[in-house]
Amino acid sequence: MDAASAVLRARRILSEATPLNIDCGKTCLSACCVSSEAGDGMFLFPEEKHIYDEYISGFEILKVTYPFEADMLICSAYCDRKYRPLACMFFPVIPYIRMYNGKASRGIMLDTRAWPVCPLMQSGMNAFASEFINACKMAAMTLFESEEHSNFVYNLTEYIDGYKSFEDLS
Ligand code: SF4
Ligand code: SF4
Repeated sequence: MDAASAVLRARRILSEATPLNIDCGKTCLSACCVSSEAGDGMFLFPEEKHIYDEYISGFEILKVTYPFEADMLICSAYCDRKYRPLACMFFPVIPYIRMYNGKASRGIMLDTRAWPVCPLMQSGMNAFASEFINACKMAAMTLFESEEHSNFVYNLTEYIDGYKSFEDLS
């Protein structure tokens, strides 16, 4: 599947999904939006930037080269749900790909970067709505059908794993 089709399909799969069957933002005052997840904006998945080709107030896209080349979306802590980036739809979950002995292991995991922000991290994925977890899995599998997304998720996983090591040291 090409990257543009995959990201659109993944966005459709997750468009109505939320971690809990209630609005979790009411209990934490939308902490992830106030902090922009890890505090520095959200990575856009490959080809996702085209969602923002038409000017949408409150968003800015930066090209970053560290920790890998990607587009980063900066928001103003509030957005129309239909323009949320895929990273926010998954949050606090994220797809991962790791390589062990030449074999790929892939799926979804809790995003380590969410620990300082999201109170749902303590209860873990078992406490999330099954509809949300299923949608995350389906969206991740859709992304994995694209080589470009698979490479992106691999790089992102390395970054998140490195972030975890950094957290362990601090
Ligand atoms: S920080 Fe966690 S609990 Fe709060 S709105 Fe975001 S996902 Fe929901
Ligand atoms: S893009 Fe929207 S959902 Fe994502 S952190 Fe910003 S305001 Fe929240």
